[in-house]
This record gives sequence, structure tokens and C-alpha cells, in this order.
Amino acid sequence: MTYSRKILTAGIVGAALPLGAGAAQADELSLSLATGGTGGVYFPLGGAMAEAWTQGVDGLTVTAESTGASVVNARLIEDGESDLAMIQNDIVNYAVNAAEMFDGDDPMERNLGMAMLYPELIQIVTLADSGIESVEDLAGTNVAVGAPGSGTEANARQIMEVHGISYDDISEQFLPFGEAVDALRDGRIDAAFLTAGIPTGSVVDLGSTEDISIVPIEAENAEAIADAYPFYSPITIEGGTYSGIDEDVDTVTVLAMLTASADLEADAVEQMLTVLFDEGTLETLCDTHARGCDITLDTATEAMPIDLHPGAEAFYDAHQ
Ligand code: GLU
Repeated sequence: MTYSRKILTAGIVGAALPLGAGAAQADELSLSLATGGTGGVYFPLGGAMAEAWTQGVDGLTVTAESTGASVVNARLIEDGESDLAMIQNDIVNYAVNAAEMFDGDDPMERNLGMAMLYPELIQIVTLADSGIESVEDLAGTNVAVGAPGSGTEANARQIMEVHGISYDDISEQFLPFGEAVDALRDGRIDAAFLTAGIPTGSVVDLGSTEDISIVPIEAENAEAIADAYPFYSPITIEGGTYSGIDEDVDTVTVLAMLTASADLEADAVEQMLTVLFDEGTLETLCDTHARGCDITLDTATEAMPIDLHPGAEAFYDAHQ
């Protein structure tokens, strides 16, 4: 493996990592963390992680970038344009296996696992009076299917497919969450797919001015979805998660995770994980978004769908 970037091994400040104590001044290193749209959960949680790393590792600056999310993020890492990414477990697995939307590409080699994070639920949001009560009812309507290159968009296609509908049956709009909820509010679209941690900011925002509902994915269909695409599992959105939705809604979930480029030195990844799982950082993440409270050292390697980064392997070997 070749490393195109050098990272500090010394000069840790603040919550002070023991590594390299007494060694020479560290090199400066700037890393980019690919997240998602501003209306999602990747962006705010990624911002809080970037801040924690910048504060916690001397000589390191991490910047959270807004992107089209998972599919784009896998490519950004592979192309060497991002160093770290928040990404769905299903999408990164497709990337390293050249499957689904990556069919025909070379299997990606630079996306390596750093930590599993939290569940991301498939949410099909509509206005309460839209008349859309099932996935099949989407036929003949205008549907936001996620940003171009998002994991959401892949999930929208797969879920509709299992229910016997495709882009031929709907008018699809490739919109990030923030634009999708504006379009729902203005009546320009009828429903929007979102794959994100709950409560998702843009859905909360829509629910503050409109009566909304979430289209259920019934248990038997959830099973068919999981049979066809094994990364999905059934889950319930508890009543009260969003204002005006008092009943539980059945749907399916995938998982959010953190990846690191194979170009990053093991030492860098190990230091970032030390900061990530510091009690203070976990508290900050939990304060930033409810799904930040799901991030724990105990669950960080559970159902990891790709190879771990050597730095992550060293960190978990020592700490789990
Ligand atoms: N999982 C979403 C996607 O890859 C992004 C979620 C978010 O921005 O929080 O499309």
C-alpha cells in the first residue's frame, strides 16, 4: 500500500493522546470529511466530528464538506478527493464489490472501515392529505428520490422495485432533502424519499408548518426487500418522533458508518478514533443530534461490511 499523505505522529494537545510524547513538532495536515446535504444528519454530525478532531489532534484540521452523500462519497474517497466519509453500509459494500450502481467499475480499493455509527431509516414523506398511503400509490406522482449520487436515490429505486414500480411509473426529481421538503411544501412534488437518521432535520422542519405523514413499508414487504437486498432490516419509527405523526410507522433501515481512505496512515486513523471515542466527544455528538447518542465503542465494529483500515484495526484490537 502506498501512502500519498503524511500525518503527524506527535504533539498531541488538550485531551492529550499519549502517542509520540516528547517527539518533534508535528506536520500540519488538512483532511476533508465528505458528508451529505445540509438538511440531513451526516452534515451536522460530521461537522461536530471534524471539530472534535481538529481540537483533539495537534496539527490536524478536518473540514466537513457538504456533498450529494453516499454514492458520491465513495467516489470522492476512491478518487483521492476526500480522506474521510460518512456513508451507508449498503452503498460502500456495493462500491468495494463493483455491484449495483458501481457495476462495470473497478472494485473500489480506497474505502476502508473506521466505525459503524447509527441506523438510517428509509422515510417516504408526504403531506397528510396527499392520498398516498402505500408505496404502490406513488405510481403516477412526482417523487423526490434524493440528491444525484445519494444512497437515498439507490434505496428509492430498490424499494419501489420490490413493490413493482420503477422510474417509468413516477416523475422522479433528484433533490437533496432541504429542496425536497420545500418542493413538498409548495406542492411541486407529492412525496420524498429520505434515508437518514431520525429525527431528520428537514422532516422536522416540514412538520412544523404542514400536516405530514410517512408512508409505511409493511412488514411482509420489508421481508421481501431484505431478501432481495440483505442490508435492509425492518424497523419502526415511533409515534411522536415527528410532530403530527402519533402512530408508529413500519419501515426499513440501513446503517451509517465512517470510512477512511487507504491513503491515510494508520497512526492518523488511530488518533482520530481515540478522539472520537473520548467521553467528551461522545457527549458532544449526542448533544448535536439524537443519533450521535448511538455511537459507541462497543458497537463500532458490529456488522462492519468492508475491511477495516489498519489504523482502525490497531485501535479496536487495543480497546475492544
Ligand atoms: N444516507 C443519505 C444518503 O447517502 C444521507 C443522509 C444524511 O445526509 O444524513 O443519501
